[in-house]
Amino acid sequence: MDKEKIIVPQETEEDLILNLSLRPQRLEEFIGQKRLIESLKISISAALNRREPLEHILLSGPQGLGKTSLAHIIAHEMGTKITATSGPAIERAGDLIGILTNLERGDILFIDEIHRLSKVVEEFLYPAMENFQIDFVLDKGPYAKTIKFNLKPFTLIGATTRAGLLSAPLRGRFGMFYHLDFYSEGELREVIKRSARILEVSIDEKAIAEIARRSRGTPRVANRLLRRVRDYAQVKGEGIITYEISLKALEMLGIDHLGLDALDIKVLKTILDSFKGGPVGIESLAATLNEEVDTLVDLVEPYLLKIGFLRRTGRGREATSLAYAHFGIPYPKEVQKELL
Ligand code: ADP
Repeated sequence: MDKEKIIVPQETEEDLILNLSLRPQRLEEFIGQKRLIESLKISISAALNRREPLEHILLSGPQGLGKTSLAHIIAHEMGTKITATSGPAIERAGDLIGILTNLERGDILFIDEIHRLSKVVEEFLYPAMENFQIDFVLDKGPYAKTIKFNLKPFTLIGATTRAGLLSAPLRGRFGMFYHLDFYSEGELREVIKRSARILEVSIDEKAIAEIARRSRGTPRVANRLLRRVRDYAQVKGEGIITYEISLKALEMLGIDHLGLDALDIKVLKTILDSFKGGPVGIESLAATLNEEVDTLVDLVEPYLLKIGFLRRTGRGREATSLAYAHFGIPYPKEVQKELL
C-alpha cells in the first residue's frame, strides 16, 4: 500500500490575506443559502427595531461554506464588534473570562469549531449564555467562594462542522440554528465572478463554469482554484483565464472533471481496492491512508456523501455503484444482490 501522505491543499499566507479581501461584507453580497439569509434578515431587523441583541446563533455545515463570513456579516449588519476565537484555542475557563468581560452590549462572540470546547469550558459558558453571568471561584478547598459577575448581553455565534457532536445542553442554549449546504454550480459561478472582479483578473464564461463545476460545492475551493488558475495563466498564458488555460491548470492541479482532488481519489480507491468497496470503519480507513480521522470526516467525506459516491452504514463507509463507475470498476454482483 502506498503510504505517501497526500498534502491537503493548505492556504498560504497570501491565500489567507486574499481570503479576507474576498469575504463578503454584507448580507446583500452573500451568494446563495437564500432561505437562511431571508430568515436571518428578519431576525436582524427585528432585533434592531427592538434595540436588543440577537439571540445566540449556531451555524453548522462543512468547511468553507461561509460560516465565518456570516458571523462577520451579522456583526456588520448589527453595527457591533466581533471577537473571534475557536474551541481548541480556549484551553481553560480562565481564557474566556477576559474575552467575556470585555464584550459590550450587543457584541458578537464567535467561537469556531465549538464542538471542540472542553467540558469544563462548555459548562462555564452555560450561565454566560443563559443569564449573562459568570461564576468566579475564589480560593480553594474549605475557603472556596463563588462570586457571580454580570456580563453585558451579547450574542454568541458558534460554528461547527459536526452539529451531532454538540452536547444537548449546549445546543439547547442557542435560539437560532442554521445549516449551510453545498452551493449549486450557478451560485459558485457567481462567487467566482465576484472574486475575479475583486482580484481584477479577466476570465471567460466557459472557464468560470469549468472552475465552478470542479469546486466541490464550496466557495472556499472555488476561490482557491481561481487563484491557482490565475497563477497558471500568468506564467503559461497571457494573464487571461481562457477555457483552455483553465482546463490545463486544473489538470496540473490534479483536480478531476467532478472536482475530486488527489486525496478524494486516494480515499475512494483505498475503499475500492484495499477494502473491496467497504464497509470499512473510519479509523481503519484513516490508519491505512495515514491520515487523521478528522481530515477524512471534515474535509473529504461530506462531499463524497453529497455526490452519492459514499454511503455511511452502521458497519462503516461503503463505496456506491457511482464510485465504481467513476473508476471504471464493475460493481460486484453480490453487493447488487444485497441491495435488492
Ligand atoms: P467556513 O467558516 O464555513 O469554513 P468561510 O466563511 O471562511 O467558511 O468562507 C471561506 C471563503 O469562501 C471566504 O473567504 C469567502 O471568500 C468565500 N465565501 C464563503 N461563502 C460565500 C458566499 N456565500 N458568497 C461569496 N463568498 C463566499
